[in-house]
Amino acid sequence: MTHQCHWEGCYKEVPPKLWGCKKHWFALPLWIRDRIWATYRPGQEISKDPSASYIEVAKVAKVYCKVMNEYGLKAPKEKIDEEVKKFLKGKVSFI
Ligand SMILES: [Zn+2]
Repeated sequence: MTHQCHWEGCYKEVPPKLWGCKKHWFALPLWIRDRIWATYRPGQEISKDPSASYIEVAKVAKVYCKVMNEYGLKAPKEKIDEEVKKFLKGKVSFI
């Protein structure tokens, strides 16, 4: 079974326990990376039962990918946050 980077448009193969390739992982804001680790359950990629909080943060990460794909990885952080917040308004509990 292959496991690819979760970044939209990136098909790099990564170990199942990692969210994505190094480049894209570090493109995510630190608080998202922390939250992914905090909610990650070892073996979830095999049992396919990630926690609800993991699914939620994974969704937020996806939105970050989308926005950063649009504005570029070097886009101003504030701009990205603003777009992500607009997109997620009311959809997640922690942003
Ligand atoms: Zn990637």
